[in-house]
Amino acid sequence: MKKNPDEIWGRCLEVIKDNVSQQSFKTWFEPIKPLKCVGSVLTIQVPSQFFYEWLEEHYIDLLKKIIRKEIGPEGCLEYSIVMENNHRNANNPYTVRVPTSNVQQVKNPAVSLPIDVANSPIKNPFIIPGLRKIKIESHLNANYSFDNFIEGDCNRLARSAGFAVAQKPGGTAFNPLLVYGGVGLGKTHLVHAIGLEIKRNNPEKTVLYVPAEKFTQQFIEAVKNNTMGDFQQFYQMMDVLIIDDVQFLSGKEKTQDVFFHIFNHLHQSGKQLVISSDKAPVEMSGMEQRLLSRFKWGLSADLQPPGLETRIAILQKKMYAEGIELPKEVVEYLAYSITTNIRELEGAMISLIAQSSLNKKAVTLELAKQMIDKFVKSTAREVSIDYIQKVVCDYFDLPIELLKSKTRKREVVQARQIAMYFAKKMTKSSLANIGAHCGGKDHATVLHACRTVNNLQETDKQFRGYLEDLEKKLSIH
Ligand code: ADP
Ligand code: MG
Repeated sequence: MKKNPDEIWGRCLEVIKDNVSQQSFKTWFEPIKPLKCVGSVLTIQVPSQFFYEWLEEHYIDLLKKIIRKEIGPEGCLEYSIVMENNHRNANNPYTVRVPTSNVQQVKNPAVSLPIDVANSPIKNPFIIPGLRKIKIESHLNANYSFDNFIEGDCNRLARSAGFAVAQKPGGTAFNPLLVYGGVGLGKTHLVHAIGLEIKRNNPEKTVLYVPAEKFTQQFIEAVKNNTMGDFQQFYQMMDVLIIDDVQFLSGKEKTQDVFFHIFNHLHQSGKQLVISSDKAPVEMSGMEQRLLSRFKWGLSADLQPPGLETRIAILQKKMYAEGIELPKEVVEYLAYSITTNIRELEGAMISLIAQSSLNKKAVTLELAKQMIDKFVKSTAREVSIDYIQKVVCDYFDLPIELLKSKTRKREVVQARQIAMYFAKKMTKSSLANIGAHCGGKDHATVLHACRTVNNLQETDKQFRGYLEDLEKKLSIH
């Protein structure tokens, strides 16, 4: 039986749209073309092997659910991949690829199978009698391990406290361990890593990861269904309870109340609590005092935005994990441009690869600049002083430390002046701040540098050439 693939896929897209970020939707779902729907098999065309793999790895659960809902329990997805010629450049696996009309069919056995129950969200523990006998799923993400967590100054305390807790759950002074920090700085990753490490060392321990939001929903359900006793008993069985984004409980007094009791019970029994929050305990509002004071019993450790080297290391780790290679200058550009959110940093890299795979274009610095402009509007997109310094130093082949030092060597002085000139021209930084970045100079020195550069470019043709080259390298567009 044939069905209209456009209609079916259209309905699927509606649901997908509500379940993924706008950026992901644009990147991964808009380029898909529905080809046909025969029986219970829907065939979609994806632009490359990379797309197919990415969808499989990251959206398989969502796709399964949706396909089954639209087509029925037998629902099955078939990918048709537009074949790429293997004109690979050793340094850049996503370099020019010529699409051919050759199409490869891949049937995904996982999707072909009826969707299994194991994929339902957190198991409802309450309807199962004999709670103690059931194996409780930890809901830990194996990718968020300590191995994959890059250590830097920004996270050293939190990471090592987490690691200590993982070696001796309930047996350190860090109970509870509270990890806090801004969006996308690795809270969720770190608390998973703790849980995974505990499970690795002690498979018999009952570890549970639960977002505070899920905890709240379960609590509301339990009240509705009159199963509060079971709810509380279930949570009190844990050896290690990990609550993510605890700030979600703020203003929810009843949920805080039950959490308070669970907390006390576990703590008294020497069980480990790991909590994450987007704020330090002192800054949490809408949280009961007695709960906040409990949080302070253990250790609060913060996650700061990563420094440049850590950002580069994170990107490299991610590339390695995904089997991707990117030119060094592109990696550096990303790391210099996105400074405050690791999730955005990774997202930008992945979008970039998707873009290049979609347009069959090599990943170049040029493409990276365009892409960042298009996708990462939300981040502060001004070039940073650090990036300007790096580009200038690369251009004149000087070590960046010299530029930041106080040395008065002629070539360094000139490069430093040029960096100051571009920093003034291209960033909103104050003269004082620019000076501080360039060897601790004061604002008058920066002003003098800008005048000198302006004068020189009017009189010295070679110098003007330098400026033009550099301007090209620095411009976003
Ligand atoms: P948060 O929970 O603080 O919002 P996440 O834990 O979800 O942040 O981290 C966002 C992304 O950044 C994840 O993909 C995570 O793997 C990655 N990430 C964060 N910190 C690190 C780190 N130190 N090393 C490697 N990846 C990291
Ligand atoms: Mg998180």
